This record gives sequence, structure tokens and C-alpha cells, in this order.
Amino acid sequence: MLKVFFTVDVEIWCDGWSGIDEKFPDAFRRYIHGPTPKGDFGLGYQIDVLNDHGLPGVFFVEPLFSSRFGIGPLEEIVGLVQGGGQEVQLHLHTEWVDEAMEPLLEDVDGKRQHLRYFSLEEQGTLIAKGLDFMRRAGSAEINAFRAGSFAFNRETLKALSGNGIAFDSSYNASLFGLDSGVMTGIPVVEPVQCEGVCEYPMTVFSDGTGSLRHAQLTACSFSEIEGLLWKALEEGRNSFVILSHSFELLNRAKDRPDETVVGRFRKLCSFLDKNRDSFLACGFHGLEPVGVSEQPPPLASPLWRTGVRMMEQALRGRYQ
Ligand SMILES: [Zn+2]
Repeated sequence: MLKVFFTVDVEIWCDGWSGIDEKFPDAFRRYIHGPTPKGDFGLGYQIDVLNDHGLPGVFFVEPLFSSRFGIGPLEEIVGLVQGGGQEVQLHLHTEWVDEAMEPLLEDVDGKRQHLRYFSLEEQGTLIAKGLDFMRRAGSAEINAFRAGSFAFNRETLKALSGNGIAFDSSYNASLFGLDSGVMTGIPVVEPVQCEGVCEYPMTVFSDGTGSLRHAQLTACSFSEIEGLLWKALEEGRNSFVILSHSFELLNRAKDRPDETVVGRFRKLCSFLDKNRDSFLACGFHGLEPVGVSEQPPPLASPLWRTGVRMMEQALRGRYQ
């Protein structure tokens, strides 16, 4: 049985940093609810499709925007996810730190994009503030974290441990993983214990073009993900972590659904529903920490599937 984590990063961007107070209400609608002439394709839609198939997802919710716009919008997000019986966890984008009405840190010197640019103490404070916002917004217990843009380091794990968070899913071997300080030089593709935290790395794979790619709905075809899931099962792997976003089923302008990505999401949900004897969709609540000391190499997907995906992506691009 392979554990499958379908993770959704829930976050809001105002497309730039000027006039954000005016832009926020519309940004919130587009990034969270995703209204289109064909209906809503945001967070509510994702929760409904998961629930139609009886599948749990993990929603990593970014709360630091509340330091600017108040707790109400965050309450709406937490209510939507928990009201749908799904799991809320913590995500942080430090781009919001210098936009806060009341300073989140003592010294804020402009924008620092990544959590890994902050000291251990600062990371600990930001995680504590994030948890506080989440609690005030009505969140149930949080025991897992993901850094914005996967930009964590080993200090992040110490800071999580200090805040009582048992699981992290910030490691991404195709981004900042290799120089994060976790098993330096070895791509981590299976859960490991580090600094008192159990790290569940993003699933990455080599697609025959020489670079690693992470398993994300907008970046992979359904047949690639399906092939990789079977392969991970055959190889006896522990877990498979898939990435999505609250706005990922929309086109770039976020004014209509991206039919290709909606199709991938629906196919993935029916696949996981139908193959319950092989794949266990799960979250972090109630999960036992594990550690795989011998890391296998990243999964590999055949080059022909990469070709098929490239064609699918090119067609998708034409309608963006
Ligand atoms: Zn994010």
C-alpha cells in the first residue's frame, strides 16, 4: 500500500505589491473561489470533487496575508476546508512580512522572499505567528507545514520542532532540497527524520530530459502521474506527495477553468478512488512518523510519456 498525499497550497496574490488594499477583495475571489462563467473552480470545487470520491486532501493554508487584511478572509478559508471535512495545515509566504499592519518581527528590512533567508529565531517567530492566525481563524490542530516556494532549510525544521509541529513537506529535490542541509548532497525522496521533525518530501521524478520535475497537476499529464504511482507501488516506496494550488484549475487570467488540468484532477481522484487496495490517500493527522534511511533514486518516467505531456502542455498553452 502506497500512501498518497494530495496537497493543495492555498494562497492569495495581488499580482504585485502596489495598491494591494484595493486589489485584495478581487484577488481573494479569484485565488480562493475561482468564479468563471462555467461555475466556481477554486477551493470549494476541489473539496467537492475530493469528497465525491471519499478522498482526503491536505490543504496548506497561508495565513500571513491576515497581518494586512484582518482575520475574516482567513476564517472563510479555514471554514471552507474544515466544513468540507478536509485537513488544514500551515503554509507560509514571507513576502507578506513587510506588508503587515503590525510588525511580525522586530527588524523588517524590506521584502525577503524566502523563509530560508530568516534566522532560526525569526523563523520560529513567523511560524508561531502563523499558527496564532490559524487558531484565531478557527483551525483545528496543525501538525504539518510547508514553506512557501519550498524555500526551507534545516533551521526551518528546528523552528517547527520548537513550535510542536511534527511533520514537514517543504523538501523538494527539484528546488531548494539539495542545499537545505537535510542529508546534504543526497536527493531525499522518501520520508526522513531530521531535527525532531518527520520530513515528507515532494515526489520528484526524472523525465528523461536530464532534470528532475515535481509531481504537480499543472506540470504533469495524468498518464505520467498514473505511471509514477504504479512504479512507486511496485518499488515498495512509502509515500507519494502531489502538489496543487487553490487556483490551479484556472487559466492564467483566472477567468475560466483550465479544462486540461480540471481533467487531470478528476481522473486522479477517480483513479485513487478505484484503486484503494493499492493506494491510500491520507493526511498528516494521526500519522505515525517514519524514517527511510536508505534513500532510493528519484522515480523515472519514460521519455515517450514526457513527449505526450509536452504536446498536451503545448495545446493547453494555446488556450491560456
Ligand atoms: Zn505557496
